[in-house]
Amino acid sequence: MEDKYDVIVIGTGCGGAAAGALAAYHGHKTLILEKNSIIGGRTATYEKQGFKMDHGHVMLRCDRGPHGKLLRMVDCPDLIPKYSYALDWGVQVSIADKKMVIPPHKRRAFLLLVMLKEIFNFRFKPDDWVSFAKFNAKTLNMSGREIEELYHIDAKTFLNRYFTNKYFHLIFGGTTTVCLGALMEEVSAGVVASISKAGLKGLGYPVNGEGVSAIPHSFLKAAKKFNAHLKLNTAVDEILVENNEVRGVMINGRFIESSIVISSVGIGETVLNLVGEDKFEAEYVERIKNLKYSYEGFSLKYALDKPVTKYPWGGEIPDNLEKITSDMSRGILPERLPWMYVAASSLDPAIAPKGKQAIFVISGGTPEVPGQVDWGKWMDKVKSQVAEFFPGINRHIIFCDETTPNHIASFSGRICGDAVGVAQTIDQVGELRPSPVSPIKGLFYSGADVGKDHVGTELATDGAISLEPYLQI
Ligand SMILES: Cc1cc2nc3c(=O)[nH]c(=O)nc-3n(C[C@H](O)[C@H](O)[C@H](O)COP(=O)(O)OP(=O)(O)OC[C@H]3O[C@@H](n4cnc5c(N)ncnc54)[C@H](O)[C@@H]3O)c2cc1C
Repeated sequence: MEDKYDVIVIGTGCGGAAAGALAAYHGHKTLILEKNSIIGGRTATYEKQGFKMDHGHVMLRCDRGPHGKLLRMVDCPDLIPKYSYALDWGVQVSIADKKMVIPPHKRRAFLLLVMLKEIFNFRFKPDDWVSFAKFNAKTLNMSGREIEELYHIDAKTFLNRYFTNKYFHLIFGGTTTVCLGALMEEVSAGVVASISKAGLKGLGYPVNGEGVSAIPHSFLKAAKKFNAHLKLNTAVDEILVENNEVRGVMINGRFIESSIVISSVGIGETVLNLVGEDKFEAEYVERIKNLKYSYEGFSLKYALDKPVTKYPWGGEIPDNLEKITSDMSRGILPERLPWMYVAASSLDPAIAPKGKQAIFVISGGTPEVPGQVDWGKWMDKVKSQVAEFFPGINRHIIFCDETTPNHIASFSGRICGDAVGVAQTIDQVGELRPSPVSPIKGLFYSGADVGKDHVGTELATDGAISLEPYLQI
């Protein structure tokens, strides 16, 4: 590590790794710093007893959406990881206590027919199908401008325009709550519409043996190709600011000079901890302190001595979701929790030793600050639901690792263990989203807190992409 760089990037989650690739591509002498021994932040993958486990389990788009866009922007489309597409997967779900499986195949028309047949169990009326068709026709053809017009309308109001059937609300509400980590009545209809527009197209899981960390790995490979330096096990203690300009960072008492610092550790952590609130106007600090974050998420990683399902994807959306999400939002452990799984080793055999299976389960918690919730109880609840869903699974567990919001906070360096980032609620999207450009000259933010479009990892990479104009020399 040298004493002076053009750009220092803090963090190697999707947001940091993507910003590092962009900075290096534009010819800046770039240093990327990561406090952990492995890269990836909330998209990290670690190895244990021959299994490769994702910290959070993640389904994402790879060649489509921001991840593919970023690699194309830096002229590295060859680095886009190999991918297994969700549309090709068999699915096993329980929706409002109704269990169903949708077999794997590649023909979408067939998929739709099977789904319709299965969903008919809900006794949808012809009017419901008309509403469904209208909703799809509308969202699939929405222009960017129409999506923006929906930004400040909540998703529940938007869905009420189309659906009266509670199961449509359950399916959309359940997936939205799990994906965006916020209640339907808070979350932006524009975000829901853009997710619906993207649909399942391109969604999937990387299959190059790196788990979901394949995405930040691919960005860092691009960064290294353009001579960026990466330092692991190196936590930034302070971002030095003088006269409203960035000077560099402090690491273990050592000063590294740089006139541009891009922090992906979180906007709150950057302003309040790494820079210090005294360096900002009081009004700005107040705004940062009042940002709302997505629900905290947690994950269970099952290492199994034999496969318990042939369906790579699925989960449970319990009945009475409105009561459940209302309990969750108040920190009350609900009767049942919505959860989702990916049997990653069924998609990429490199994820588990031969003949064994790795299943990653995620569920949502509350927007509470770590330390105030007994996560053990929430995990036990999901474990018992998983055991009902996959009868006999408990006899096949080699180990089951738990990632609680407290773990997420400690390995990602965030104040709270929020799953996604600054929540995409009606008052925090579009022009009301925090800007990636800070009021301090040379200080930028990247990552999911400042991304404008998409969700989760894609939001994080979108945050980096928005920095492009500031990185062109
Ligand atoms: C359980 C769970 C399931 C999820 N499922 C999905 C999903 O299915 N699909 C999806 O798209 N998204 C999903 N997400 C959300 C997604 O993982 C996050 O939104 C995204 O990864 C955030 O990326 P980021 O770059 O903004 O932040 P992070 O990944 O948190 O990166 C921040 C980085 O900064 C580093 N850092 C922090 N402090 C310092 C310091 N002082 N010095 C140096 N380095 C530091 C951290 O170690 C970390 O590497 C899930 C998240 C969780 C927790």
